[in-house]
Order: sequence, then structure tokens, then C-alpha cells
Amino acid sequence: MGGVPPEAIVRSEAIAPSEAIAPSETAQDLAQYNRSLIEACPDPLIAVAINGRITDVNRAFLSVTGFSLEQIIGSEFAGHFTDPELARAGQREVFSRGLITGYLLAIRHASGQLTHLLCNAAPYRNRQNEAAGVVVIAHDVTQQKLREDELARLHADTKIHAEELKQREAEIQQINDLYEVLQACNSQQEAYPIIGSVAAQLLPRASGALAVSVSRAHQMEAAVEWGTEPRMAASFLLDDCWALRRGQMQEVAEPGALQSCRHFESAPPGPYICLPLSVRGDLLGLLNLRSAPGESLEPQQRQLLTMFGEVIKLSLSSLKLRDALRAQAIRDPLTGLFNRNYLDETLRRELSRSARHQTPLCVAMLDIDGFKSFNDTYSHHAGDVLLKALAEFFMKRLRASDIVCRYGGDEFVLVLPDTGLRQVSERLDRMRAEVKTMECRFEGRILPAASVSIGVAQWPDHGATSEDLITSEDLIRAADSALYSAKHSGRDQVSVFAAGAPPG
Ligand code: GH3
Ligand code: MG
Repeated sequence: MGGVPPEAIVRSEAIAPSEAIAPSETAQDLAQYNRSLIEACPDPLIAVAINGRITDVNRAFLSVTGFSLEQIIGSEFAGHFTDPELARAGQREVFSRGLITGYLLAIRHASGQLTHLLCNAAPYRNRQNEAAGVVVIAHDVTQQKLREDELARLHADTKIHAEELKQREAEIQQINDLYEVLQACNSQQEAYPIIGSVAAQLLPRASGALAVSVSRAHQMEAAVEWGTEPRMAASFLLDDCWALRRGQMQEVAEPGALQSCRHFESAPPGPYICLPLSVRGDLLGLLNLRSAPGESLEPQQRQLLTMFGEVIKLSLSSLKLRDALRAQAIRDPLTGLFNRNYLDETLRRELSRSARHQTPLCVAMLDIDGFKSFNDTYSHHAGDVLLKALAEFFMKRLRASDIVCRYGGDEFVLVLPDTGLRQVSERLDRMRAEVKTMECRFEGRILPAASVSIGVAQWPDHGATSEDLITSEDLIRAADSALYSAKHSGRDQVSVFAAGAPPG
């Protein structure tokens, strides 16, 4: 028993029942009795002098410290705990308040093992009733503490998981919203910027691009980009991308790796992923996502990219189909020129634009001369070849702002905005002359040159059915009337509408 005067532990004296100790028994018997009481306590028990040094402990305390009694007695009580300052504060509190309960301290065994102790402490007094030290009874709550820590960890994990779920839910909602918005788009062109802005929101730490396949074989074109450089090449070949070559997602973890794609303007500084977008074997596009140097895509980002890609490819597929149907509705299948439906709609729009800007607009109607007998002589197929060749010729000769339509049969209508009648008539006459020099081959033979007759009318001068109302129908009727004059005057010529001319 390391140097504790037995009389120091007043409590032992106070609880010693007179019948348990006979008056004849010695101080040694009393010390033995006190010792056995202290050792009977299964919890660590520590007596600490007023100077903070340990004066007595039981074996239960020795076993949580791993030190011998000799090492413990006289050592500083607070120094045995992981947070000595907290232990000192507890000591001070005992002296000021008289008793503290449920004070949590942790002690580290010499082997490193940690024991959590719930301490109750009270001061003890000497014969002069002065505070002589503190008795601490510490209950081992390590198991309970571990359970609490585990529970707290589970709680924190659940919270993180719930937040992740919330985040996933928000991302899925964004993707659903994107799908709906893309469904409402009128064309692929309209969809691209929307796809770019949603991608930037969904994957804010990454950059990327969407490239789409173009009609020319094995070729892709950048449609939209987001984030930082390097930019995707404006156009590239399928062979420039490993994902497109292999027909599956390709991840390049190391910048400058062997299997780096060649569709960037400069090499990406970080890892990237390429995801081909195909529907039923039809390649529609390529989604590229680039991480910042040193970062990599987490699994849930990869999953998000896949979901995003699914929505984009379905939307691109339906927009492509819609574009194709619209093209069918406004194009003539034989020549690929716009058809009469398109002309009706467009001429109305062009007329109101010309009215707004007060610029002239001419409409010409062309008809092949003697096409019936051409068909009869050289076959309907040869006639088709001539129609296609003429369509190509008109497309080449006209300006980008001009519109060429196949009006029906062997009739074509040209809409020529922003040019006066005189200039248009001269241009049309040159075209008429060139038509006659066109070489048109059919089944290895050169077909005889065709000629066309042309009638032309101008807004705002021609075609008014009343002073202030000139409709697209009026203008077409005026051009048709001029064409009738050209035919009537011997064909192969340009005729300008003249008021009072016979109707077409
Ligand atoms: P005109 O000089 O008065 O114009 O005489 P034309 O023989 O050309 O008479 P018209 O313009 O009325 O004849 C139109 C012909 O165009 C009749 C029809 O057989 C032919 N045609 C209409 N559509 C097609 C087509 O898609 N392919 C071919 N090969 N011929 C067509
Ligand atoms: Mg004709």
C-alpha cells in the first residue's frame, strides 16, 4: 500500500461498523479491513491527494493502466488520462462542488488500449475535517461508448446516404426535365444548347462536349461544348475516337495514354471518357466528359453520364426522325428541292419580310419546253434525269438567300428576295441560255439540250388584286401569267408580268 496513512481515508473509518472490528484488533487489522473494502470494488478506485498525486488505487485501476502499484503511487492522477486538462478540471470541480458524478474520462493502457471511464468523485477529509484529497470511483463504460460511437457513425452514414439519395433524386429529376424539354424541341439544332447547359449543371466539376454524326459517312461534328478547354475539333472522323472504333465507352485515365483520341484541338490535361450514342445500330453522337487534372470520375458520376447519354440518344433519335419527316413533308423526293407546301409557307414569310424592310422580291416560274414529247421520245426515266439535272443546275446558280421549288410536273418556282426586277430578269435570261448548253447523260448517251420558258413578277409592283393587298398567291399567279406570255411568244425566253396580259 503505497504511503497512504490509513487515517487519511475518512470514509473507511466512517463506514467501519463497530461490530465488524473488535476493540482488541490492531491498526494493522483495520488497514487490512480497509484494503479488502477497496479491493472489493470491481470498478477502478483511486485516491488522489490535494496536490493531484495518486495516494492509493485498487487492482482494477492497475489493470486499466497496465502499470505497477509502485509506478502509479505518487504519479500525477491527471497525467494518466488522454485529456489531462479535463481530468484536472474534474478534480477542481470536486473541491468546489463537493461531489461530481458521470464525469467521462478516457485512459490509455500501457499497451495502447483505450478504456472509457465514467467517474464519480467526492472529497475525503482528515481528522481535522479538512479536505485531504479526492476519491474517484470509475466505471468502465468502454463497451457502451463503442456502441454509442458505432451508433453515431451509423447515424452519420445514414445522414450522408440520405443526402446522396436526395442528390441522386435531384439529378434524376433534372434528367427527366431534360427529356421533356428535348421532346418539345423542334429540331436537333434547338436541342444542342439545352443539352450543353444541363450537362454543365449535372456534372459541374467536369467539362465536355457532344458531337453528332453527319450525313457524310464516317464523320462527326461538334454540336455543343461546356466547361473548360480543350475544345473538340469542329469535325472529325469516326476513326479519331477509340470509343467510336470499339463501339463502347472508352475511359482514358492517363493524359497522353496510348489510346488517346484525336478529336481534341489539344490533348486533354486530365482523364476523360467517351461514350458513343447509338440507337438500334444507328450512331447518333458521341458524348465526351473530361475531368480536371488529378481528378477522376466517381462511379455515381459515371452512372449519371450513362443515364444522361441514354436520354440524349433517345431524344436525338426522335428529333432526327422528326427532322426526316419534316424534310419529307417539304421536299420533292425526285429532285430534293423544296415542294409546293414549303413554297406557300415560305413565300408568305418572305413577302412580309420584304414589306417590313421595303425591299423588292421577285418570283419566277419556269417550265420545260416540250417536255411531254421529250418524255415520249427518250422515256420517262430520261425525263426524270433531266428534271434532276435542272434542279442541280438551279441550286448551283442561285444565291443562298434564293429559294428553289419544284412546283409540280416540269414547273419550277424561284423566289429571289432583295433584288430588283431588271437585275433578276437579266440573271434569269443568262440562266435560260445556260440551260441550253447543259450536258445531260442518260444510259451512256448525251440527251439533247432542253430549253425553258420563264415568267417573272415583282413585289410590290405586280400581282395586286386590290390597291393594298398583294398575297403570295397573287404573285405566283402574276409569274404564271408572265410564263404563259413567254410560251405564247415562242418559248425559250423570259417574260416579265405586264398588267392586262392574258391569265396563266
Ligand atoms: P410546254 O412547252 O407547253 O410546256 O409543253 P410540255 O410538253 O412541256 O407541256 P407541259 O409542260 O404541260 O407538260 C408537262 C409534262 O411533264 C407532262 C408530264 O408527262 C411530264 N411530267 C410531269 N411530271 C413528271 C415527272 O416527274 N417525270 C417525268 N419524266 N415527266 C413528268
Ligand atoms: Mg412544259
